Amino acid sequence: MKINQFISLKNYNSFQLNAQSHHFVELHERSDFKKLLDKHGGQSIFTLGGGSNILLVEKEISVLIAHINTKGIQTVNESDRNVQVKIEAGEIWDDVVQWTVERGYGGIENLTLIPGKIGAAPIQNIGAYGVELKDTLIACEFIDKSTGELREVDNAFCQFGYRDSIFKNELRNKVIITAITLNLSKDGFHQYNTSYGAISNHLLENFSNEINLTTIRETVRQIRTSKLPDPKIIGNSGSFFKNPIVSQQQLKHIQEQFPDVVHFPVDKDKVKIAAGWMIEKLDGKKWTVGGAGVHHKQALVLINKKNATGMDLLELSKRIQSNVFEHFGVHLETEVNIIDHKYTCQL
Ligand SMILES: Cc1cc2nc3c(=O)[nH]c(=O)nc-3n(C[C@H](O)[C@H](O)[C@H](O)COP(=O)(O)OP(=O)(O)OC[C@H]3O[C@@H](n4cnc5c(N)ncnc54)[C@H](O)[C@@H]3O)c2cc1C
Repeated sequence: MKINQFISLKNYNSFQLNAQSHHFVELHERSDFKKLLDKHGGQSIFTLGGGSNILLVEKEISVLIAHINTKGIQTVNESDRNVQVKIEAGEIWDDVVQWTVERGYGGIENLTLIPGKIGAAPIQNIGAYGVELKDTLIACEFIDKSTGELREVDNAFCQFGYRDSIFKNELRNKVIITAITLNLSKDGFHQYNTSYGAISNHLLENFSNEINLTTIRETVRQIRTSKLPDPKIIGNSGSFFKNPIVSQQQLKHIQEQFPDVVHFPVDKDKVKIAAGWMIEKLDGKKWTVGGAGVHHKQALVLINKKNATGMDLLELSKRIQSNVFEHFGVHLETEVNIIDHKYTCQL
């Protein structure tokens, strides 16, 4: 376990920001977690997965970065209907989706092509196309950074919500997730989720409405590829903001001025407003700060157009937040984790 000094993080964050890490360590073995905590104490360690949900604001990052690369997928339980698999934190999320689909295990096929690693998936309860991690996760294993204790907790403990969990709140920066366990369905017991219009139309047009794990995964891949920029080509972190959830009353108020506001029901009292629609309505797709801009197909996605700095992206995001607040009275919360000086100081 070697601590590397002064390495560029350009290939470790999907915005492709050229920040420099002063201390960087790769963790490949389970035993590395303990060694690291024993030697450096947990509080001053920043845990990095695939870097697809972070904005590195600072150019120099002095906190020790631990890059998680532990691998392994193990079946821990099986019945006629289900299989339970435990997956190490350093596995690539989409490789795991492929692994499950190839074996005929259902539950996460709609979540294909989400970048990043397994260990980060519970942090914001990753979700797409009507499915969230919380629908299949039955256990999450983590190490408490301050005590070094290894714990395995259940789904309820994680307090999952829309792009949210206990790991973004009470346990923010306090633990390193080492593995998760998913409960997946076996052939004959799958519950396909094709409720998103785009999925059912695509299945009909391209797969003669043949619905199985492979056609759903392929459908989602094709839809996502046509809509979202590839971070290897254009630096981005997917949706920069969460879609805000407001009361029916607040929606009515917005509709008085913007009758066409795009929204979706959450429950009988609340609705989710499409943040991308609000940004687009304000002509936000044209906004730039330095090398940072807004993607032309999806206004929710901020991009590194040309040599952007973390500060450019942060400034642009603040400009969007203040404009949206001024016109719609709604605060846009960031989905991306802003890693600034304040953040690393809180570790
Ligand atoms: C093009 C694109 C599309 C995307 N689409 C979606 C989508 O459809 N749905 C969705 O939900 N997200 C989406 N995302 C966001 C992102 O892919 C997910 O949030 C993903 O889970 C982040 O994983 P990561 O390994 O890259 O995390 P990182 O960016 O490395 O880390 C994110 C946060 O998690 C913490 N963390 C990482 N690993 C651990 C660990 N083992 N233990 C404790 N903390 C940890 C980090 O400290 C950081 O705060 C998209 C991103 C991109 C670039």
